Amino acid sequence: MAQTSKINENTWRIEDGGVRCFLLEGREKALLIDSGMTMPNARTVAEELTTLPLELLNTHADPDHISGNAAFDRCYMHPDEAAAYRKSGMTNTVVPVREGDVIDLGDRPLRIIHIPGHTPGSIAILDEKNRVLISGDSVQGGGIFMFGEGRSMAQFVGSMTHLLEYADRFDTVYPSHGPFPVDKELVEKLREAAEEILAGKATGEYTDLFGNKVWQYKFPFAGFFCEPPKE
Ligand SMILES: [Zn+2]
Repeated sequence: MAQTSKINENTWRIEDGGVRCFLLEGREKALLIDSGMTMPNARTVAEELTTLPLELLNTHADPDHISGNAAFDRCYMHPDEAAAYRKSGMTNTVVPVREGDVIDLGDRPLRIIHIPGHTPGSIAILDEKNRVLISGDSVQGGGIFMFGEGRSMAQFVGSMTHLLEYADRFDTVYPSHGPFPVDKELVEKLREAAEEILAGKATGEYTDLFGNKVWQYKFPFAGFFCEPPKE
C-alpha cells in the first residue's frame, strides 16, 4: 500500500516500499513524477490527492519507477530511456523531454536537467519556485545502482558537475530512495566520491544484490553498486 503525505500545499510524496514518487500541482494541472515499483494503481493514488488534470513524468525507466505507467496514455521521459522503456513492455506514448525543456503546471515551471550516468536518460526536475531539485536515483543518500547496461560513472561525474551549475537555484533535494529530503551539499559529495571511484582510489567489496554479485563502495553519505573490477 502506498503511503501518501503532504510536503507543502501543492506537493506530495508517495512512498511505495523502497521507492518514492512525487505529485506536484500548479494552477492548471498536476504532474506525477514516477509511478513506483508495486503501484499499478499509481494514477488512482494521485487522483485521490488532486482534482486537476494529471500528467506523468518519469525520471528514468528503471522498473521501480514505472509500475503504474500503463494507466497513462503518455508520459514525459528523456528519449535516451526509450529503448529500456520499450523492453519493459510498456506501449504508451513517450513525450520526449530534454535538457532545458520546461513543463509549466501553471505558475509552476519545472525545468528538465539531463543527468546521464545512473541511466542514459536520467533527468532531474528543478522546481524553480520552490527551490527544490527532484533528483530521481542520481542524487540520494542510499545505494546508487551503477552496474549493468547503460550505466556510466564518467557520465555520472559530468552530471553532478552539471547539477552544480544550478546550485544557486535550489536549496534542497527530493530523491527517489533513501532519506528524505537530502542536503544539496550531497551533489558535491557524490561528485567527489564518483571521481575517487573512477580514479581507482576508493575501496570496495563484493556484495550480493538481488542475486547479482556486485562491487559496493560505501561512503558515509551514500553508496554505489558497481561492476566488480576485472581480475
Ligand atoms: Zn530507483
